[in-house]
Amino acid sequence: MTAPTYLDHNATTTLRPEAIAAVTHTLALTANPSSVHGPGRAARKILEDARSKVAALVGARPGDVIFTSGGTEASNLAIRGCGLSRVLVSATEHPSVLQCGGDTIHVDGNGVIDLAHLDAMLAADDTPALVSVMLANNESGVIQPVADVAAIAHRHGAVVHCDAVQGCGKIAVDMAALGVDFMSLSAHKIGGPAGAGALIVRGLEGGTACHLNAISFGGGHERGLRAGTENLSGIAGLAAAAEAALNGLDAFARLSVLRDALENGVRALAPATVFIGDGVERLPNTSFFALAGLDSDTQVMSLDLAGVAISAGSACSSGKVKASAMVKAMNMGNDLATAAIRVSLGWPSTEDDVAAFLSAWGNLLKTKDILTGTAA
Ligand code: PLP
Repeated sequence: MTAPTYLDHNATTTLRPEAIAAVTHTLALTANPSSVHGPGRAARKILEDARSKVAALVGARPGDVIFTSGGTEASNLAIRGCGLSRVLVSATEHPSVLQCGGDTIHVDGNGVIDLAHLDAMLAADDTPALVSVMLANNESGVIQPVADVAAIAHRHGAVVHCDAVQGCGKIAVDMAALGVDFMSLSAHKIGGPAGAGALIVRGLEGGTACHLNAISFGGGHERGLRAGTENLSGIAGLAAAAEAALNGLDAFARLSVLRDALENGVRALAPATVFIGDGVERLPNTSFFALAGLDSDTQVMSLDLAGVAISAGSACSSGKVKASAMVKAMNMGNDLATAAIRVSLGWPSTEDDVAAFLSAWGNLLKTKDILTGTAA
């Protein structure tokens, strides 16, 4: 059986060889970074080297990095740990942010945050607040004006968290230039293993950070902010992937050529296809589109049978396909929300992958014509 054409890299991307080597090496070690003996000190060194590499990916300082089990825990820690009862989140945030609760900031027809609405919400109530806005959307790849968000929020005395899980490692990120106080990262979106991530707390090294409480309790790991023995092999894999992703940013940017070829091919097959977020700045690897009448679940399953792995906009953890949260938030209507699919390229993607997708999707359209008599 041939390997499937994998075009779901925003869900989890292929492990980078550097990450596999780092994980494999570290797994074979017997040591706890908190132990004072030689093996423990060697493990501590791996941990602290990893902290430097992860910090470098976002222009932060090593002491700003708190390792977590992934992006979800990092965002939970920032939002719950900042101790602020008022939280404002954009309508298209990932569930790991949305389900922490909060008031919703509107987005426009491209899914970009409405800065005037944010400003008005903060002006209307002077309760200390945390604003959480993602760097890039997991479904559409649309990049948010995070620096503008941070400027507005800080003018009102609010603290800013940015879920950079999808943007980081795909585009250049400078946390200080963005001006955010907290930033979430995840290893498995950048070529590291699932189950590792980080919360970057600007100014933690140097003592100027915003207030943050632990949300889990036990040992004093990670400066008392994240209890529990560190996942050393996962963290080493995260760091190796962060370094490789940083070195590979130019190559990643060139994925837009493949993405554009894919979108041109889709347009040629079905001119009525609506591309979501293509009018604004977005990640180079992500295409999110809908053809009204062609349900996303039909597409995901048919393409899977044809050996092409893609996802519906928001496949939830149960594996069910449901209407895209992003498209719903953008008020584009149920027809498009239930038809939207996401094709996300990754660092190993090739022209052949695009060709395989177009061939399989074209065949599906022909089948649909036969079954329903409708034109694609
Ligand atoms: N934030 C965004 C934007 C994501 O796409 C994801 C993963 O799908 C997460 C957070 C969660 O990250 P993790 O799987 O590491 O918990």
